[in-house]
Amino acid sequence: MSLPNVSSPPNFIRNMILEDLKKNKNDGRVHTRFPPEPNGYLHIGHAKSICINFGLAREFDGLCNLRFDDTNPSKEDVEYVESIKDSVRWLGFDWDDRLYYASDYFDQLYDYAIQLIKKGKAFVCDLSPEEIREFRGTLTEPGRNSPYRDRSVEENLDLFQRMRAGEFKEGSRVLRAKIDMGSGNLNMRDPVIYRILKVSHHRTGDKWCIYPMYDFAHGLSDSLEGITHSICTLEFEDHRPLYDWFLDQLGVFHPQQIEFARLNLTYTVMSKRKLLKLVQEGHVHGWDDPRMPTLVGLRRRGYTPEAIRVFCERIGVAKRDSVVDLALLEHCLREDLNLRAPRVMAVLRPLKVVIENYAEDLVEELEAVNNPEDAAMGTRKVPFSRVLYIERDDFMENPPKKFFRLAPGREVRLRYGYYIKCVDLIKDETSGEPVELRCTYDPATRGGWSPDGRKVKATLHWVSAAHALNAEVRLYDRLFTKPDPSEEKDVDFQSLLNPNSVEVLKRCKIEPSVAAAAPGSRFQFERQGYFCVDPDSSNDILVFNRTVQLRDTWAKIMQAEKK
Ligand code: ATP
Ligand code: MG
Repeated sequence: MSLPNVSSPPNFIRNMILEDLKKNKNDGRVHTRFPPEPNGYLHIGHAKSICINFGLAREFDGLCNLRFDDTNPSKEDVEYVESIKDSVRWLGFDWDDRLYYASDYFDQLYDYAIQLIKKGKAFVCDLSPEEIREFRGTLTEPGRNSPYRDRSVEENLDLFQRMRAGEFKEGSRVLRAKIDMGSGNLNMRDPVIYRILKVSHHRTGDKWCIYPMYDFAHGLSDSLEGITHSICTLEFEDHRPLYDWFLDQLGVFHPQQIEFARLNLTYTVMSKRKLLKLVQEGHVHGWDDPRMPTLVGLRRRGYTPEAIRVFCERIGVAKRDSVVDLALLEHCLREDLNLRAPRVMAVLRPLKVVIENYAEDLVEELEAVNNPEDAAMGTRKVPFSRVLYIERDDFMENPPKKFFRLAPGREVRLRYGYYIKCVDLIKDETSGEPVELRCTYDPATRGGWSPDGRKVKATLHWVSAAHALNAEVRLYDRLFTKPDPSEEKDVDFQSLLNPNSVEVLKRCKIEPSVAAAAPGSRFQFERQGYFCVDPDSSNDILVFNRTVQLRDTWAKIMQAEKK
C-alpha cells in the first residue's frame, strides 16, 4: 500500500507538457479530453482522470473535451450519459460547447476503414470469434495468418460494404487490420476493427449494423478532435503502438498518448462491472448508495467536490499501480468539512435526563458557536430545559478508571450550558438498562464554568427533549472487509462484503436549528463526526448520512511514519 506525501507530488505528465511547450509542439496548444464509456456511473478513479485532464487544460490555458466513447451500443445507456455530465459538473469542471460522442464520427471512421482496405491494410475475415482467438496465439507463441488475409482489395471492399448493408449475420464476418501475426504485442496481431452488431444505438438509432471497435475509434477520435495529449491509464500502454499504426497508415494528426496508473482505493472496488453487480444483486441500494465509490454515492454521503479535487492532487500521478489508503481520502474530506460545516448537537442513542431543580416551564436560549474555525459563521441559540437527552454512551453506572463522563454522584459540563450532577438512576426492571437519569444543575455555572473554580473532566453534548427534532441517522462503514478485495484470489468478491457496512439509528434527536436544512446540507455533530442530510428526509423525519467520523486515522499514519 502506498503512502503518498501530503504535499503536492511531482507530476510527470505536467513535465512532458512543459517540454512540448518549450519546443512549441502543436503550436503551443494543450488540448486534452475525458473519454468515458457511457456504460456505468463515474467513480472516484474517474475523478482522478477528470482532475488530470481538465486540470492540465486549465493550468496551461488549453481546452478539455468531454467525449463519450460510445462504440458498444449493447452496454450503453442515456441514463449513464446524463449522470456522467452531472458528475463532471459537480466536480467543478466544464467542457463549454465541446461535448462529443465517438458516434459522431461513425461516418468518418467508416471512411478511414475504407482507406485502410484500399491501401491493402485491412481485410474482411470469415473466421468465427473462437477461431480468431485460436489463431491469435499466446504471449509465448506467435499467431497464424487467417486464410482470408490475402483477399483482394476489390473483394474486401465489396464484402465490407455488404457487411454495412446488413447482408451478413452477427459474428459471421469482421474487418481486421493487416499488421503482423508474429508481433510480440498481441494487440498488433491483425486486430478486429469492425464487427457486425444488429443493435440500435442510443444516438445513431438503426443507421448502423456494424460498429468500430474501441481500439479503432478511440485514437482516431482523439486525432479528429485535435487532442494534443491523450492521457489514459496504464492498461492502454500496449495499445499505443496500434493507435500509432492507425494514425501513421492514415496520415492524420498525431496526438501523444501518455499513460498513468489507475487509482485504486482500499476497502472498495473500482471496476464498473463489479459496481454494476453490487447494484444488480442488491448488495447496495443503487449507484448512489452512500457506501459506493461512485461520485453520485460520495456526493450523497456528503463528500465535497473540493475535498475530492484536493485528494486527486495529493495522490499525484505515477507510472506504477498502487492502492491508496481510504484514510487519505477521508483526511482530505475532514480538512475541508472542518472549515465549512456548521457545528450542531445531535444525540444518536438518547438517554433521558431530568434536571430536578430546573423549573418545569423554563426554557433558556443558550448561545452556541457555529464554527470555531470561522468566526464569520456566527452563533445560534440552542434551547435548554428541564428534560434533556444525552448520549447513552456518556453514562456508566459503574465506570472504570479511565471513564470521565457521567456516572452516579459525578458532575460534568453540558456544552454551552451548565454543570449537572447525577443524583439518581432509574433502570428498566427487566433488562437493568438505565432509562432515565435524575440530575441537578448548578445555576452559577451558566456558560460552562464555575465561579468557585470547581473543575469537571468531561463536556457532553445534549438536546432539549421538548425542542428536539426526530432524526434517522445512517452510520456507514467500509463496504468490504479486505483492503484489496480485487486481489483476493479464488473468492467471489461479493463474499468479502462487510455485513455491517451500514447501521441505521431511527430514534435520534437533534437540535431544532437544523429544521430547515435541505438535502445535501452538511454538519458536524459535535463529538461525533460529519453528517449530511439525505434526500430521503421528509417533513416528519430528517435523515442523515454519516459522511466521516472525527477521528483522523490518516494523521496518525503520517505521525507514525515520521517516528
Ligand atoms: P472501469 O474499468 O472502472 O470500468 P473504464 O476504464 O472502463 O473503467 P472508462 O469509461 O473507459 O472506464 O473511463 C474513462 C476514463 O477514465 C479513461 O480514460 C480511463 O482511463 C479513466 N479511468 C477509469 N478508471 C480509472 C481509475 N481507477 N483511475 C484513473 N483513471 C481511470
Ligand atoms: Mg474503458
